[in-house]
Amino acid sequence: MAGDLRARLRGHLSEDELKLIRAFDVVGDIAIVKLPEPLLPKKHLIGRALMEVQKNVRTVLNQVSPVKGEFRTRELEVIAGENRTETSYRESGCVFKVDLAKVYFSPRLATERLRVARQVKPGEIVVNLFAGVGSYSIIIAKHSKAKLIYSIDINPHAFEYMQINIRINKVGDRVVAILGDAREVVEKELTDRADRVLMPLPELSRDFFDVALKALKPTGGIIHFYDYGEEPDIFGPSTDFVKANAAKRGFEVKVLGARRIRSYATRCYHIVLDLEIVCKK
Ligand code: SAM
Repeated sequence: MAGDLRARLRGHLSEDELKLIRAFDVVGDIAIVKLPEPLLPKKHLIGRALMEVQKNVRTVLNQVSPVKGEFRTRELEVIAGENRTETSYRESGCVFKVDLAKVYFSPRLATERLRVARQVKPGEIVVNLFAGVGSYSIIIAKHSKAKLIYSIDINPHAFEYMQINIRINKVGDRVVAILGDAREVVEKELTDRADRVLMPLPELSRDFFDVALKALKPTGGIIHFYDYGEEPDIFGPSTDFVKANAAKRGFEVKVLGARRIRSYATRCYHIVLDLEIVCKK
């Protein structure tokens, strides 16, 4: 995709500028680029060229801040097309309505969402601690026979879109949207409940690992623990962390799988550990 855009811009941008054109994401009919400083004077030209090479794109957004804050959102500016940040996106047979300026959303996690959904066994109770607009939860509902999926997020906009998405995908009988802080929600209403816990927010996984253990049934279950890992030992520090912290609370951990999801920075990766948690007592 970036190659087509570069070809389209050849003659309008210098060779040095063309080298700065990077891969972009498309979510529904919106494309998101992250233009470096030297390309900003040409942002409208680049936005229009992108719409010419991606015929289904109606709006091009430039990401002007990193993903930040409690809600993990980013600042975006419209550089071409319609003036909006809301779109509908299809993934794994589900439809998600999202406002890219108000909620976190990344199409790059599609493979991971389906991978987790395929592991869920019939009758399971799942707790998703950081659910966003409900993408993991709804894909699990569609691709497994899970009994219930509790789907928590602290961002009121994410909660609102999650409710809309639950309705659009007709999974309201099994996906329960909950607005609130995952720690408080688990302590108040979801202790000792889950067969499986998802923690899809690497920045908070370590702080909330005790919450995930609390949400599991007393006999144990599965935790999908998302974290960052650095070369040369990508999975070692996360594995040591979960083993030590689980042991303190009387649980044993078996690492069923360890995967790199995507590159995050030089020699640093967004990773996931699939953990089987067993009660020692
Ligand atoms: N799982 C989502 C997906 O696949 O689209 C993305 C989740 S996003 C990386 C992390 C989410 O955690 C954000 O929507 C943010 O609002 C939420 N969040 C942050 N702190 C939280 C907390 N303490 N309790 C519950 N949700 C929280």
